[in-house]
Amino acid sequence: MEVYLDNAATTKPCAEAVAAAVEAMTDKYGNPSSLHRAGLEAQIIMDSARKTVADSLGADSGCIYFTSGATESNNLALRGASAAYGRKRKKIVISAVEHASVEETAADLEKKGFEVTRVSPREDGRYYAADFVNACDDDTCLISMMYVNNETGYIMPVKETFSAVKRRFPDIITHTDCVQAYMKLPIKSGSLCADLISLSAHKIHGVKGVGAIYIKKGVRVIPVVTGGKQEKGIRSGTESVPLITAFGAAVNKLAPTISERYEKVSGLKKYLLDKLGGIEGVTFNSPEDGSPYVVNISAVGKRSEIMLHFLESREIYVSSGSACSKGQQSGVLGQFGIRDKRADSALRISMTAETTETELDIFCEALKEGMEKVRG
Ligand code: PMP
Repeated sequence: MEVYLDNAATTKPCAEAVAAAVEAMTDKYGNPSSLHRAGLEAQIIMDSARKTVADSLGADSGCIYFTSGATESNNLALRGASAAYGRKRKKIVISAVEHASVEETAADLEKKGFEVTRVSPREDGRYYAADFVNACDDDTCLISMMYVNNETGYIMPVKETFSAVKRRFPDIITHTDCVQAYMKLPIKSGSLCADLISLSAHKIHGVKGVGAIYIKKGVRVIPVVTGGKQEKGIRSGTESVPLITAFGAAVNKLAPTISERYEKVSGLKKYLLDKLGGIEGVTFNSPEDGSPYVVNISAVGKRSEIMLHFLESREIYVSSGSACSKGQQSGVLGQFGIRDKRADSALRISMTAETTETELDIFCEALKEGMEKVRG
């Protein structure tokens, strides 16, 4: 039996998403910018998906722009907002544990003349809003802070930070990468005090290659991709209607059950930790109050990649830290105080509400066997 526990890397598209994509590809294949009926039909289903995504954030449809995924949304947020607001204010504040699509974009902006401050967690491995506020000043144009860390499940104090930043520096643009939080925690654009929010469909049982950015009304973002003026000129290029409608279908399915699924996955996390507690050499890297969807552990003494392939030989799929970093040692874990041998042996188990206790049993049995059989 295949046991897929790498849902933070990507999820299986739900049947509703697949059906919506197929319908858009077979019946509603017009270009939404075309003025004839086929175009209008495509536009109608695309705008229905836009409304679904907007409603899920408690936002207006006019604030949602579709992109090719969260990497693009994050690029657009950082590059677009810094271009719009950073002519005189040259400072950007980010957390030190951002996904590469924020970190590397910030590093690129640094090369182009911005000063980037990376805020680390304190000694206790936790983040405090005050540290972000103290990192901001009158020369800061943008702050970017993810909601849930993709490697550990740590939940960042986004709401507290953004509201405190806005109180002291109302002109700073606030951006949050909500990829690992969306449809898992209730996210409302208004109460978060976020000007920009990045989303990805394939982490929520949609399809790869589509995402969205929420841009608060009145907030300016200079486009990165220019051309045909689709998405009100914010993101040119013919929209991928099949992927967008699949995104909408996945949100429609998940939005009503955010808290039930959270409860269920919290139960699964507890079950998993109880079982793992009985395996010698296993330590826990995720905070107790982190997102239950992501559990990071170390199989101390066994290199992540070797253990990963041992598990793979039993058709069990987990990740060594972040899938995007392809096995490189994680700077993010180091920020959270997980270093050296513990970082070398880190494994990320990421669940969905469909994960079963039986699957977790299979994983734990195989891990136990791996601890005995695998050579460091
Ligand atoms: N941000 C975070 C926190 C992520 O986990 C990911 C996916 N690994 C991304 C951004 C990038 O998303 P996408 O695959 O849609 O480009």
